[in-house]
Amino acid sequence: MIKYSLICKNCDLTFESWFSSSKEYEILKKKNFLNCHKCNSIKIEKNLMAPSLINTKSDKSLNNEIKKYKRIKKTISEYQKFIKNNFKYVGDKFAYEARSIHYNKKKKNKGIYGTASKQDLQELKEEGIDTQMIPWIESKDN
Ligand SMILES: [Zn+2]
Repeated sequence: MIKYSLICKNCDLTFESWFSSSKEYEILKKKNFLNCHKCNSIKIEKNLMAPSLINTKSDKSLNNEIKKYKRIKKTISEYQKFIKNNFKYVGDKFAYEARSIHYNKKKKNKGIYGTASKQDLQELKEEGIDTQMIPWIESKDN
């Protein structure tokens, strides 16, 4: 048995539910059998932050943790919006693009962002190219 904390995307109600496995959750979700006790919406998602917090803290501090997380998440998503508007996405060509900016010395009007391995970042650093790691949350709202 597995206990999930679920959240209704429609009315923000959070509640807990038991499933025999994570697979059962997926199946019920797919068949739209999960619905909100309050508003009956089927927009139910796993409340992702909860599992690691269960049983470790009192309810009150748990709520504070969740509030804190929501605030951070909001800040990160605002940060992501800023980056998306001001930087060019280069995907996994990040190391290549970073070098071309650095060595061509051509002033590009936009910075870049993308993905790179730890080793890439280490090599860039050794070449004197400053990179910054940024927290990133993939939004899965669809
Ligand atoms: Zn609801």
